[in-house]
Amino acid sequence: MKILIAEDEPAFRRLLTDVLIKWGYEVVVTKDGAEAWHILNSDDAPKLAILDWMMPGIDGPELCRRIRRRAHGVYTYVMLLTSQQGDKDLVTGMEAGADDYLTKPFRVSELRVRLRTGRRIIDLQNELIAAREFFQEKAARDSLTRLWNHEEILSILSHEMARAEREGKCLGAIMADLDHFKRINDRYGHLAGDSVLRVAAEKMLTQVRAYDSIGRYGGEEFLVILPDCGRQCAMAFAERIRQRISEKEFNTSEGMIPVTMSLGVAVSCREQRLNATDLVKAADKALYAAKGGGRNRVEVAEGG
Ligand code: GH3
Ligand code: MG
Ligand code: MG
Ligand code: MG
Repeated sequence: MKILIAEDEPAFRRLLTDVLIKWGYEVVVTKDGAEAWHILNSDDAPKLAILDWMMPGIDGPELCRRIRRRAHGVYTYVMLLTSQQGDKDLVTGMEAGADDYLTKPFRVSELRVRLRTGRRIIDLQNELIAAREFFQEKAARDSLTRLWNHEEILSILSHEMARAEREGKCLGAIMADLDHFKRINDRYGHLAGDSVLRVAAEKMLTQVRAYDSIGRYGGEEFLVILPDCGRQCAMAFAERIRQRISEKEFNTSEGMIPVTMSLGVAVSCREQRLNATDLVKAADKALYAAKGGGRNRVEVAEGG
């Protein structure tokens, strides 16, 4: 684990550095509060900081306050060091947001056990962050296909819409729907239908770029969001997906099943900006035209 040492007195700096290295920590050392602040805001910053109270630049308590004011989620465990003694200092330091407090000169054995507490808190914090990320991800996914769910794909759409507008770029959208899916369910059973949905999702994913997004919009209906992709580009993606779905029968637990998909394309570009609702509506209308035109085909929205 990486620890920041910010201490302006050479003797203490040396002592801290030596013992921490001996105990197997990776240390980042500075003698200046402003530099400490800079280090704590860098990528891969130490999550544990030992800050001297009195330092040039920014002092220990002020650093603590700044660390606690940061909005982002990573927690920095702060241990303040001071040569002053007194209850007032303790209160000031803890109120500034320090987790622990050590008075110089301290016994190394005491430092060692206090650091162990800090590590335990950081480990717990990391576990909490990982759990939160896991549940956030889970809540945003469709459980059958692992694609983004309805709410999430719409949220991605509005996000990408705003970005396209800001950057003066096109945004493509495809509404895709499996053809005669009800028949597949009726003929092969609901489980086979589920399997077809999963395989369709996998196949679609192989045809888009890393920064495109696919969501399960409804039962057997998918919404594809294509950033920086105009009419020709979006049509080409839709056609690739159509081909990929229909070229080979799906290999499912219930046997080989022929599947086709109809797709409706719409774009929002500088010449004609649509809002998210109208873009989805336009793609949906084009999909409807593709169904009417005989299915297993791509149609583009008028003007889009
Ligand atoms: P079209 O070509 O016009 O789209 O015809 P379709 O049969 O695909 O469309 P329709 O809307 O009539 O039927 C869709 C079917 O999809 C009905 C519904 O039972 C089925 N479905 C929706 N969600 C699921 C699911 O999660 N699993 C399975 N197996 N079937 C589903
Ligand atoms: Mg000092
Ligand atoms: Mg359908
Ligand atoms: Mg449908």
